[in-house]
Amino acid sequence: MPEKFDVIVVGAGLSGLSAAYTMVNKGLNVIVIERGDYPGAKNVMGGVLYRQPTSEVFPEFWKEAPVERPVIEQDMWLLSDASAVKAGHRSEAWAREPYNAFTVLRGKFDAWLGQKVADAGALIVPGTTVVDLLRDGRGRVIGVRTNRPDGDLLANIVILADGAVSLLSEKIELHTRWKPNQLALAVKEILAPPGKSDERAKIIEERFGLAPGEGLTIEMYGALTKGMVGTAFLYTNKDTLSFGVGALLSDYAEFKQNPHALLQIAKQHPALAPLFAGCEVREYAAHLIPEGGYDAIPPLFADGVMVVGDAAQLCNGLHREGSNLAVTSGKLAGETAIEAHNKGDFFGKTLSAYAAKLNDTFVIKDLRKYRRASQHMEKNRQFFTSYPAMLNNMATEFFTVDSVPKREKQWKIFKMAGNKLKIAADLWGLFKVVK
Ligand SMILES: Cc1cc2nc3c(=O)[nH]c(=O)nc-3n(C[C@H](O)[C@H](O)[C@H](O)COP(=O)(O)OP(=O)(O)OC[C@H]3O[C@@H](n4cnc5c(N)ncnc54)[C@H](O)[C@@H]3O)c2cc1C
Repeated sequence: MPEKFDVIVVGAGLSGLSAAYTMVNKGLNVIVIERGDYPGAKNVMGGVLYRQPTSEVFPEFWKEAPVERPVIEQDMWLLSDASAVKAGHRSEAWAREPYNAFTVLRGKFDAWLGQKVADAGALIVPGTTVVDLLRDGRGRVIGVRTNRPDGDLLANIVILADGAVSLLSEKIELHTRWKPNQLALAVKEILAPPGKSDERAKIIEERFGLAPGEGLTIEMYGALTKGMVGTAFLYTNKDTLSFGVGALLSDYAEFKQNPHALLQIAKQHPALAPLFAGCEVREYAAHLIPEGGYDAIPPLFADGVMVVGDAAQLCNGLHREGSNLAVTSGKLAGETAIEAHNKGDFFGKTLSAYAAKLNDTFVIKDLRKYRRASQHMEKNRQFFTSYPAMLNNMATEFFTVDSVPKREKQWKIFKMAGNKLKIAADLWGLFKVVK
């Protein structure tokens, strides 16, 4: 007879570990099954981890966790092929408690989190893949089948926290296979400046204008994604840099772009190349990001099962938020499992409380607010192509001192904008999908 648990969590990422921690702290018998050799082995993020939502589950985590740097500056660059228009915000308040966000490396961070969840009493089983879900005659999920010999396990509830590809919820027909425009593919390198760890940290601080220990993030739009709907990002870690570029999966095919080549070309951009001078590649990763938005969210529960985090398409790409949606959904699914356990009822009606709770949070409210944003961007590629280029041309003209009288210069810049009615209509359209 297979072993039985109160809850089986599939996936030791942020959502699965948050659910597990919530449940073991209330005495439930929880097993977390992870296909990677350790929690974090397979996980990729830019990555910025937000302090407030994460500390709702793991209070004051930053005091012990391997975070890289508190983020004190967040910048946005609009790039043409050879120049950049830059904007951003810096706040020294973010350098102190309670902090706003931290850069993290998921390989280290999730391993720490996994140990914390194990110390609290969950059984974490790495190196094991769940290949199917077990169901009773009425279709209720009653356990999982793993790739180990005699690898069936039973549970009152299974929480699917298996990430963006989400094969298990597809297997039980909570959704059909994601369409290529419902996922983005990002490739990322960890780059190390020359020298020992403290020398590398100093180089990073000098290159990015940071005080010791402080960090920044740069999000980039425009030329680097070659017309595709996507972004590039650059984040400072303790003694390395995380640099990546991502775009809709459908666009790679349509624009015949190779993600690896895209990343290598991006590193050569004149606004970026000096920041990477002398750096060597320490790690290379590729990962999918859910981009389907509100309309792609599958049913979040069924008899005996709940779906959390990326597996449920809970990702807000516009704001670079996924970790916080994962942690919050994991926590709420965990709380719902505790209630179901206390009632002794594991059917969908009881588990529907999870979806109801999530509806009341920023997770669903934000995704609903931006429900048309992704499709809008796909149809309005000028925001990734001609507009960043135009702004760069205007900025170059504005800042070039060439004895042209200012009135003439302003008129020239005004004319560079081309069709003003079209721009006004595009801005109005953008406003309508993000308002
Ligand atoms: C390049 C990139 C940059 C990002 N940047 C940011 C950022 O800066 N800030 C932010 O907030 N979010 C960011 N995100 C999004 C964020 O990483 C995700 O939203 C978050 O990791 C989701 O957590 P999760 O636990 O749901 O899924 P994951 O972290 O993907 O965890 C899923 C886990 O399930 C395991 N698994 C999968 N299938 C099985 C199976 N069958 N059996 C056993 N185990 C299985 C996987 O190995 C993995 O450990 C980024 C994502 C990417 C790819």
